[in-house]
Amino acid sequence: MQISAAVSRSPDQPPAIESLELDEPRANEVVVRVLASGICHTDLFAPLMYPLPAVLGHEGAGIVERVGSAVSKVAPGDRVVMTFGSCGSCALCATGSPAYCEHGHHLQFSGVRDDGSKTLRKGGESIHGSFFQQSSFATYSLATERSVVKIAADIPIELAAPLGCGIQTGAGAILNNLGVKAGARVVIFGAGSVGLAAVMAARLAGAGSIVAVDVNAARLELARSLGATAVVDATVDIGSSDVVARLRALTRGGATHSFETAGQVASIAAAIECLRRKGVCAIATVPKMGEPYAQTLLPLLVGGKTLTGVLEGDSVPDQFIPQLVDWFLAGRLPLDRLITNYQFTDIGRALDDAHHGRVIKPVLRME
Ligand SMILES: [Zn+2]
Ligand SMILES: [Zn+2]
Repeated sequence: MQISAAVSRSPDQPPAIESLELDEPRANEVVVRVLASGICHTDLFAPLMYPLPAVLGHEGAGIVERVGSAVSKVAPGDRVVMTFGSCGSCALCATGSPAYCEHGHHLQFSGVRDDGSKTLRKGGESIHGSFFQQSSFATYSLATERSVVKIAADIPIELAAPLGCGIQTGAGAILNNLGVKAGARVVIFGAGSVGLAAVMAARLAGAGSIVAVDVNAARLELARSLGATAVVDATVDIGSSDVVARLRALTRGGATHSFETAGQVASIAAAIECLRRKGVCAIATVPKMGEPYAQTLLPLLVGGKTLTGVLEGDSVPDQFIPQLVDWFLAGRLPLDRLITNYQFTDIGRALDDAHHGRVIKPVLRME
């Protein structure tokens, strides 16, 4: 079928909307009419590492248009969120950790289906699709049955879209990975969409202290209004002993949990050092390759602490995304506070605003 999609052809140029042909769905695939797609940090740097030309986008939501012959989970007309791909049969998928699927890298980042075939073309030219098994910067996506999650009719589609990656990453890190419980003392580094979702989740869990750290005063104010009990301006030297002492004071002697979303070496160091003994730090991203780590990791050793990686919030999307929707509908996860809408044709401006941090969660509208 003919679709419109934003095609990235160079790491230096924003994508342009082109008319492409989308392949027929295979037995396990679902064609989704995309109504909204969030823009996530991974979309910004993907053109540097993803095979081009390609269609990116991995926070798509919309309506099921057609399903393959073996699909039973959803039917045409269902409203769905698309999330990351997973194989469903490896040891990690089988034990409830699809975010760590042994084939996950291939499924998110190779530009092809799991069997190596491509889903998009323009005349005789192959275009890489299958980004996170969706490539949602388009009017239609080809997703796998495993990577679509049916959602309630009453959540606005532009609020549902970022549940597929950024929001589940932040909320899942707090609730699934760190297991934050009532009374926990939590420090969250970075008040972008992932960090603010974490703030909301920490409040949901009843954490006693929720400290948000960022360089942007407006985002810190938003964090406060979403549940942060204190905020710390990181425009001062985040790695200084003063900042760590302040974080420890704000968490009554040290955090039980910290969550790092900024990917700066100094910030990761502070996220470890602000912990009390036996505290746990989860990181959602890493610094640029080649930057030093040694100084950062030493406190882990001597403090008996745990540093853990977390992908996609350790989420089991079929269970976790409907839970997030329920919380939104109950007024306990005010996603609407994070989102700025753009027309699909304004994708260049949306990407630039995201890159420069002018907005928290840009969402493209395809209607
Ligand atoms: Zn993402
Ligand atoms: Zn797997």
